[in-house]
Amino acid sequence: MKKKFINKKEAKSLITKLGDEFAVVKNPVYIHPEFELYPLAKKIKTVDKLVAAVMDMDGTTTTTELLCIHSLEFMVRKFSGKIDTQTWKGLNPKEDYPHIIGNSTTKHVEYLITKYSKSFKKNEVIKSFLFAAAWTLIFGKDNQRKSEVVMNLKSFNCQDLITDEYFKKIINLTTLLDEDKEQLSDYLFNKYKNYFSSLGFNDYVRLGIDVYYQRYHEILERIRLGESKFIAEELFGDPHKHLIEAMPGIPVMLPMIKGLVIEHHDLFFDYLLKAYEHKTGKTFSLTNLEKARKNFIELCQKFQVSPIKTAIVTSSIFYEADIVLREVFKVISNELNNLLPDSDFKRNLLKKFSDYNFYYDAIVTANDSSEIRLKPHRDLYSIALFKLNVAKEDFNKVIGFEDSESGTIAIRAAGIGLSIAVPFAETSGHNLKAATYVCKGGLPEVILKYNMFVNSK
Ligand SMILES: [Mg+2]
Repeated sequence: MKKKFINKKEAKSLITKLGDEFAVVKNPVYIHPEFELYPLAKKIKTVDKLVAAVMDMDGTTTTTELLCIHSLEFMVRKFSGKIDTQTWKGLNPKEDYPHIIGNSTTKHVEYLITKYSKSFKKNEVIKSFLFAAAWTLIFGKDNQRKSEVVMNLKSFNCQDLITDEYFKKIINLTTLLDEDKEQLSDYLFNKYKNYFSSLGFNDYVRLGIDVYYQRYHEILERIRLGESKFIAEELFGDPHKHLIEAMPGIPVMLPMIKGLVIEHHDLFFDYLLKAYEHKTGKTFSLTNLEKARKNFIELCQKFQVSPIKTAIVTSSIFYEADIVLREVFKVISNELNNLLPDSDFKRNLLKKFSDYNFYYDAIVTANDSSEIRLKPHRDLYSIALFKLNVAKEDFNKVIGFEDSESGTIAIRAAGIGLSIAVPFAETSGHNLKAATYVCKGGLPEVILKYNMFVNSK
């Protein structure tokens, strides 16, 4: 195709050549055009050999959705002034969760603003935004986030907040107590409330994003400092609740695809089996069980001969991914430590999991792209394939894992035909039509029932 500008008829004929299935990806309201059309890679049912695995972080590798949902709900609570569960029950899992998991933060916030803006109180919105902005500038660790906050302050002419004397005093504190928070909120609100004459939908979205991130990052920072137990108690009333865990099967699948499961196959297999039975409530018949065991050992041996490249592909920003992956690799190490008897094999394996950078060949986050190009757009997965140096003719030897609708679309939009959905409770309401397979039994099912879609010879 040499022409650079074509008419509708020519465009139609070109699009037809691109494939049989397309995804319609709606853009945020401030973007032209209203939507993009993505030709999707043809679904691939099985492969003879895999060369790479690309996978989502939240909801696929780890369970951080709990904290994200909490932070989104917190934003709605702040904007409406309904802080406790007596004044508002909270988000509706069935109705709301499909719209606030797995997409970009902008889309999640847009949905909530559209649905709940009737209950918002302008003064509460302004107050919570000003506090979130100040907190981000003082305690935030992500520079991109800080510059977005400054941009939002500028759009309301409040940028002198940064040079304010009171603000400068706070900047020297290492942490804010509840009464400090209240004082700061009141002070900023009284000083700047009149700068916000009228607020439109886009303003609500931008301010909502800042309030969401402030809450989420404040929690992550405390996790980084080792305060997980206190947060679990404060937010969920249970100090033993793990805020960040590995998704079922992850502690086996990750070492397996890197060819690291070379001993104790039975222990790894039984671990997977338990996870499968727990997740599905189903059991294997004796014949199927022995077949699955034999296949599992063969699969481990295949990966031992040809380990595959791996990438995490997340719409989260790097700051978040870094803390979450550190935490989840600690959890994986712990689980492997409990699973295996002491040996050189175990020590070598644990070394590999002492730092996620030893393990992954690429980490792709929202910082590698832009907020307007996150999943379901193909960009993050295309960047991952590029970083892993997978040739285009090998895209049909790549497997992608996602728990959400937009993620499964993004995988196929990037040219990967083996797009596996591993939904869990929070994403069970998603439309997963774009996925090649939907495995409700998660990764244990992918391995035990489907042999990771690798043909066994
Ligand atoms: Mg996800």
